[in-house]
Amino acid sequence: MLLHICCAPCSPHVINVLKTDFELTLYFYNPNIHPEREYRARLGEAKKLADIEDILLVEGEYRPREWLEETRQWKDEPERGRRCEFCIGQRLSETARMAGEMGIKRFGTVLSLSRLKSAIMINSMGQKAQEAFAEKGIVFHLADWKKKEGFNISAKISGTLGFVRQDYCGCAYGRRNAKKKAGSAGQPV
Ligand code: SF4
Repeated sequence: MLLHICCAPCSPHVINVLKTDFELTLYFYNPNIHPEREYRARLGEAKKLADIEDILLVEGEYRPREWLEETRQWKDEPERGRRCEFCIGQRLSETARMAGEMGIKRFGTVLSLSRLKSAIMINSMGQKAQEAFAEKGIVFHLADWKKKEGFNISAKISGTLGFVRQDYCGCAYGRRNAKKKAGSAGQPV
């Protein structure tokens, strides 16, 4: 399975569950992350986790300027709105495309681990990506990883490994909104 990951803190529990049934490859494709130093930090921790798990990690293209242009029309949308639908849909579509290129028949994502994200929306975007690459016979792995204490389990493992969970999802808009909230205290994503 090609597993899309957004950051190290969201991933350990998901990897632990999936690796019992699948041979995993991790795909770090997140053109949404802003600023670039945050992208590098999240990628660095993801690589550290991949090393610990002895799993191959593939880095996707980082194209933040294009991403900002593509999403500017939804800059004032709340989290879980149309901007997030586009952002998640695009990352899953690219994951499906890459799975096809690599000859991998299943793809999934850790994104539903976040308490602030709708698993219904993520699964729907995953199924659309599956349909778009139907000729390759690639299947999206439906999941809601926050369930059954998934978020807490991942947070505990991440704490042990010293990974840092940021107080915003990843993009410039989410960062701005997190800063506006409660004197920038934000909340875990
Ligand atoms: S809040 Fe998160 S999911 Fe929504 S657009 Fe920003 S990075 Fe993407």
